[in-house]
Order: sequence, then structure tokens, then C-alpha cells
Amino acid sequence: MLKTDAIIIGAGPCGLSAAIHLKRIGLEVLLIEKGSIVNSIHRYPTHQTFFSSSMKLSIGNIPFITAKDKPQRNDALVYYRTVAELEQLKIHSDETVLSVEKTGEVFHLTTEKALYETSHVIVATGYYDQPNRLEAVGADLPHVHHYFKEAHPYFQKNVVVIGGKNSAVDAALELQRAGANVTVVYRGATYSPSVKPWILPGFESLVKNGEIRMIFQADVEEITEDTVRVQTDSGIEEIQADAVFAMIGYHPDYDFLGSMGIQLDEESGCPIYNEETMETSVKGLYIAGVIAAGNNANSIFIENGRHHGEAIALSISDKLKADWKY
Ligand code: FAD
Ligand code: NAP
Repeated sequence: MLKTDAIIIGAGPCGLSAAIHLKRIGLEVLLIEKGSIVNSIHRYPTHQTFFSSSMKLSIGNIPFITAKDKPQRNDALVYYRTVAELEQLKIHSDETVLSVEKTGEVFHLTTEKALYETSHVIVATGYYDQPNRLEAVGADLPHVHHYFKEAHPYFQKNVVVIGGKNSAVDAALELQRAGANVTVVYRGATYSPSVKPWILPGFESLVKNGEIRMIFQADVEEITEDTVRVQTDSGIEEIQADAVFAMIGYHPDYDFLGSMGIQLDEESGCPIYNEETMETSVKGLYIAGVIAAGNNANSIFIENGRHHGEAIALSISDKLKADWKY
């Protein structure tokens, strides 16, 4: 049994930030991470450029300096590794937290490797491991992907991208540049306002020039080994597809959150928590990062989720000070 003052589940940017701030109030902190640190960023498309400037991705007031305003995935991997080293964060990587149970004031965590006891748990598990699923027939076929990594294998292939926000548009652009024959199938009637304004004009001009085919108000009905059947305003259409990228978003692990006693808002999928302190209705159990956004991936990012750690540290230090008084 290992004992520590606080355990953070998930070493993404927001979990790392929380660890730094909790350490700075004098707590002994352990991060438990099922993969490697910043695992989600590691799994982004290889050549991903962030929409945020590097300073808005920085944590613990440690400058993230890059030659270009907007860093790439690899710059961020280097930065977060450096921060973890500089701040001497204690991280158990390649270890998945399976359960969190509370007895009295103490949390008991079980992983596949060990048992832990702590007074404070911060859940910073993000959403990237749980892709949203299509309802369509054939949605689980092996050539239907929820993560886009690189475009090269799709040179001269027919590719259908499903979705209409940043992951879909980014993937479509990279695929088109690599010589794929790209069709984007989107359920919306017009371009989503969430698409970053500096990306949209280039994408629109490729659509206008016929370099990318864009189908609005289209619902996917069936995917077969070589086609995607969509229902559109003008009827049913079958599109040839050697590969399908269903870039339709991600969601938090609701079962995991529920198993810890965290209540969820049914409609938004948001965990119920105090916005000032990030504490849930379970005393001592906090959330940090994009997990707080529920189903709406476009409301919390690293840019704002990185500040959750400061709020949590303040809440815990206030409680500790109050305890010392009496
Ligand atoms: P995550 O980074 O997802 O970290 C959660 C961690 O928890 C993961 O490492 C995971 O392995 C671990 N974990 C999960 N379950 C367990 C468990 N049971 N036990 C142990 N560990 C567990 N945001 C911005 O602000 N600016 C951007 O430019 C930007 N660009 C983006 C580009 C892409 C392609 C994507 C997909 C997202 C982007 N975002 C951006 C959004 C934001 O980056 C990510 O969602 C960010 O990673 C969220 O940080 P987080 O720490 O909350 O969660
Ligand atoms: P997202 O923002 O959640 O968008 C999902 C898209 O899929 C939306 O267009 C949505 O339609 C559609 N969709 C959802 N469920 C569907 C279903 N069942 N059937 C058909 N379509 C469905 O996901 P994302 O684009 O992956 O973005 C996730 C996060 O990563 C966001 O925070 C985003 O900003 C970030 N990101 C950043 C960058 C970058 O920095 N360059 C790149 C990619 C992603 P509606 O439009 O109708 O909702």
C-alpha cells in the first residue's frame, strides 16, 4: 500500500499543471498515467499544429518558447517532458487506475500494479480515449478510423471524412495535400463556427475548386468495405471509400466517473462540480482539464483547463489552513 497526500489520475497538460500547483503548496503528489505523459498529444496527428500560441499552452508559469507562434505536436511533447523533469514530478506511467473508493476521509485507488491511499484525488483523464460512435451499419469495420495520424498511405485512395469541425477539416486538408480523393460528409447545413477562422478560407477554396468534395446535411446510413451510403437532401448517395475517418468527437469515460460517485448532468454530460474549486460532490475528489466540459469539446481546452490546478490548490490549502486552526 502506497500513501501520498494527493493523487492525480492522468498526466495530460492539465493533470501536470495540477501536480505542479499542488506540489507548490507543499503536498506530496503522485501522478498515475495509463500511457506515457501527455499521452493524448502523443496520439494526435503526427504533424498537428496547435491552434493556441505556445504561451497559452504553458503550465506552472514555465515559458514555452518556440520559433513559430503556434507550436507543433512535437514541440509540445518536448515542452511537457521538460516541465515534468524541471518540476521533478513523480509519475507512475503505463499504469491504469481501475477504481477509486472512499472510506471515511481516505481514498483507496486500485491499479493493475498497486494499491494507493490518499486524502485528495484529482481526476484529469480527458476524453480522447473514448471516441463517439456512429449509429450507422458498418461503423465498426476495420477501415473506419476515429484517429487520424498521417495521410501518406491514402495517396490516390478514395477517402470519406465524417464530421465538420477542426479534426475533420484538418484531416481532410492533409489527405488532399497527400493526393487522396477526399469527400467530407457533414450533418450540418453550413460550415461550423468552431472551425478555426485561419483554416476555413483555404478549405473553402479547395471545395470551390473541386479539390475536396463537401456534402452538407448528410447522414451516414451504412458503411461497407468500399462505400459509404449517405442520406442527403436530394436522396441517397453511395460514395466510394477505401478508408473512412469518422472525426466525430470524443467524450469522457462516464462509467469511470460514475463509479467514483461523481454526478453527471444528463444532457451536457458534464460532471457536477464547484466551478470555483473544481471539487465534485464527493469531498476531496476534484476534476481538472477537458473532462469538465462533458460532451462539449469546444468549451474547455488546455488554454483554460491548465488553470484548474491553481483553483484546486487554493481549495485544498484553504481547507488545510482551516483544519490547523481548530
Ligand atoms: P488529456 O491530455 O487527454 O490527458 C488525460 C490523460 O489521462 C491521458 O494522458 C490519458 O492517458 C490518461 N488517463 C485516462 N484514463 C486514465 C486512467 N484510468 N488511469 C490513468 N490514466 C488515465 N487545446 C488547446 O488549448 N489548444 C490547442 O491548440 C489544441 N489543439 C488540439 C488538437 C487536437 C488534434 C486535439 C484532439 C485536441 C486539441 N486541444 C487543444 C484540446 C486539448 O488539447 C486536449 O484535449 C488536451 O490534451 C486536454 O488536456 P487534459 O489534460 O485535460 O486531458
Ligand atoms: P468536435 O469538436 O466534438 O466535433 C465533432 C464533429 O462531428 C462535429 O462537426 C459534429 O457535428 C460531428 N458529429 C458528432 N457526432 C456525430 C455523429 N454521431 N454523426 C455525425 N457527425 C457527428 O471534435 P473534434 O473536431 O475532434 O475536436 C475535438 C477537440 O480537439 C476540440 O477541442 C478541438 O478544438 C480540438 N482540435 C484542435 C485542433 C487544432 O488545434 N488545430 C485540431 C483538431 C481538433 P456538429 O457540428 O453538428 O456538432
